[in-house]
Amino acid sequence: MKAARIHRHGGPEVLTYEDAPDPKLKANQVLVRVRACALNHLDLWVRAGIPGMEIAMPHILGSDIAGEVVATGEWNERVRAGQRVLLAPGLSCRQCERCVSGEDNRCPHYTLFGVGVPGGNAELVAAPEYAVIPIPDDLDFECAAAAPLVFLTAWHMLFTRAALQPGEDVLVLAASSGVGSAAIQLAKLFHCRVIATAGGERKLEMARELGADHVIDHYRQDVAAEVKKLTDRRGVDVVFEHVGAATWPRSVQSLASAGRLVTCGNTTGYDVKLDLRFLFSRQHSILGSYMGTLGELYKVLRFVFRKQVRPVIDKVYPLAEIRAAHERLEHKEQFGKVVVVP
Ligand SMILES: [Zn+2]
Repeated sequence: MKAARIHRHGGPEVLTYEDAPDPKLKANQVLVRVRACALNHLDLWVRAGIPGMEIAMPHILGSDIAGEVVATGEWNERVRAGQRVLLAPGLSCRQCERCVSGEDNRCPHYTLFGVGVPGGNAELVAAPEYAVIPIPDDLDFECAAAAPLVFLTAWHMLFTRAALQPGEDVLVLAASSGVGSAAIQLAKLFHCRVIATAGGERKLEMARELGADHVIDHYRQDVAAEVKKLTDRRGVDVVFEHVGAATWPRSVQSLASAGRLVTCGNTTGYDVKLDLRFLFSRQHSILGSYMGTLGELYKVLRFVFRKQVRPVIDKVYPLAEIRAAHERLEHKEQFGKVVVVP
């Protein structure tokens, strides 16, 4: 098969479109012909190398996968050849206490396609049967690939970790990112008031189109001051963070009394300051979030399948042009998801 692989860590130049052996199918696995694979920031980090994380080389990136089932291993019972499917990006042991309690994203063996196992930047991928989720006929493969990771992450952050309630005020950082565009739509679905930040008029307009009630240009405006203005000095109930060092102080300042800040990433740096005086006197909560459970993925996909929310597709590249796709994401040129098609 053709695949985009890395043989060492580095910049986009280490991505090589080449021939690779077809995956060998295990009895509990399904072979999927990849029809679309969406990129995530995770791809950039794994490609560059994450300190302390050992990746077997050569490696195939890509966590968000949609395609058609071409073969099933002998232990499969539910999935059949010919089905149009997406793959749950997260993989776990299915046997430990956390997994059987429905908290598979806290499994000690938790990993993702494109991280601990070969991903979807290839013509074929092998997946355990439990990760295979059939998709409706009217959902195209690009949308099916662009949905899982960001909608799952945003759902877990907003509803499981931050316990967002209908009608609350939410500040969504970086609306142009995949998770940001998912968070705006999910919060609106729950009748929340959404304030979104983005850089530049074009991205602000797109945030409005997704449903943001107010937008703030994070390059030209003081986010915390604007939030105070828009909320009559109260601040927001929930801040949806994933930007990190560059936005952290303003994000904390934007919180209302008893507000919750939930974060799933640190694209601009991880070393932030926390003033404990404000944390306790205003009774803030700082919450970490990582992916979401398989059960939550089924819940949020219901809204995707019914077209009540939609993944935002920025650009689709042929897999052979994977380097350009990485560069687009790395240079923050995108609004929504960058997708590759084998
Ligand atoms: Zn487990």
